[in-house]
Parts: sequence; C-alpha cells; structure tokens
Amino acid sequence: MASVHVLIPAQRFIFSVADGEATQRPVGSSAEGFAAYKELQSEGKSAGMVAFPNTLLIRGERDYLVDPGMNMQGAPILGALAGLGVDPNSIQDVILTHLHYDHAEALAAWPMRRTLVHKIETEAPYAQLVAGQLEMAKLDIVEGEEGEIEPGIRWMRTPGHCDGLISILVDTEEGLTVIASDCVGPLPEYFEQMDLPEDFGPEREELLTQWQRIRDLEPAVVIPGHNPPVALS
Ligand SMILES: [Zn+2]
Repeated sequence: MASVHVLIPAQRFIFSVADGEATQRPVGSSAEGFAAYKELQSEGKSAGMVAFPNTLLIRGERDYLVDPGMNMQGAPILGALAGLGVDPNSIQDVILTHLHYDHAEALAAWPMRRTLVHKIETEAPYAQLVAGQLEMAKLDIVEGEEGEIEPGIRWMRTPGHCDGLISILVDTEEGLTVIASDCVGPLPEYFEQMDLPEDFGPEREELLTQWQRIRDLEPAVVIPGHNPPVALS
C-alpha cells in the first residue's frame, strides 16, 4: 500500500513595510499567517506574505514528489528525504497539482523527471512563470476528469482555485488520503464547516461543489495546499 509523507509543511511568513523598515509578524501556523496577513491589510498596512505549500512524497510502487514548492536552498527537502531514508536521485516522478509558481517553481531542482500535470494548467497564462522549469522536465500531460497514476494512486480534476487543478487520491493503510492542494483552503475552518464567506469570490460555488465531492469519497485524511493535513476518521 502507498503512503503519503509531508516533506516540507506549509508555512507562511508575514511582514509589513513602512518608512523603509520591514517588520516581521511571528505566526504560529500557516492558517494564522493568512489571518495575520488579512489583518495587516485591513489596517491599511503594506503587508507582504511568502507562502510555502505542503511538499509531499507519495511512496507507492514508485516515489512521487508532489508540488516541489518555491525555490529555496535545497537543504530542507533533502533533509526531509534523508529522514525517510530516500535517495533524492531515486525520485524520477513529480506530480504538480497545478502550475501556480508557489507549487511549481522548485521543479527547477528536479529536472528530467517525469512530471505529471493537467493540460489545462499548461495552457494557463501563469504557466509562463515556470516555463523554464517545464522545459527541463519530461512532461506527462494528462487530460480529462480523472485517471490512474498507478494502482491505488489516482487523480481527479477539482477546479475552482484554478481550472486544471488536480487532487491526488492515495489508498493507504489508514484509508483514502486526498491531496487536495489549493482546492481546500485558505483557512481550515472553512473546510471544517463546509462553507466559505459570501464575498469569497467567483469561485466560491465551484469550490464548495468540489469539497462535497471530496467528502463523498469518505477520505481518512485530506491534505490542503497551505494548511496541515485534516484527519477525518
Ligand atoms: Zn498555493
């Protein structure tokens, strides 16, 4: 059976800038970071946010690196792999849930790997930001609504955050793990309550539809893009 490991947990770094000085706002969790960022904005401050998504490893018949994340020095991800006893050179497969740069930029460190991504994402304007990375990859472009990656590891399209975003469904010893990426966010309580603020944006209805689809799969764990895994059973 496959397993899913968090290599680099989602983190947000928040700061504001005034009079040539940057002030960091320490936050206890990625979700708190989002709230702090919104708070600074509502106070009329020039707020900055750096958001690292969850970078994951699926260990099945093969090892799959999911969302390498943002470019940074290699130590954190290599350290996390070493902790699992995984040789980075043995990883030949990458999955990109979507092509926003915060998820795909660090693909630069994983060239020449088979890299699975939905066709819709490759045609989105923001794909240009990671065009160099995609050029160095062996792209495995999928189309349609769902597919199998290997027995026990599937993908399904869960649009809303962006049109070609795929969730990864992994059968594990503990039950189904859904890697939902930015389909689920930005605050954990929204998914908990299965509701989003009325003024959330045009994608609100679509996201709520996708959340219900995910719930209907009765997953044991759902892993959002920028918050910790949610245990549901
Ligand atoms: Zn993201």
